[in-house]
Amino acid sequence: MRRKLLEIICCPKCKGDFEVSIDEENEDEILTGKLICKGCGSIFKIEEGIPYLLPEDLK
Ligand SMILES: [Zn+2]
Repeated sequence: MRRKLLEIICCPKCKGDFEVSIDEENEDEILTGKLICKGCGSIFKIEEGIPYLLPEDLK
């Protein structure tokens, strides 16, 4: 996902902002990592550049 997307997306649970933890990235995209909600602490995975905005506990 492009870093700019971080400014647009928000937590589906509480509409809070995300903090991002990057494991793998290239010049303009985050490939692997985590989105951590600053509001409720929910964690969402980023895999192969795709953010999965589903709470972990729904799996
Ligand atoms: Zn949240």
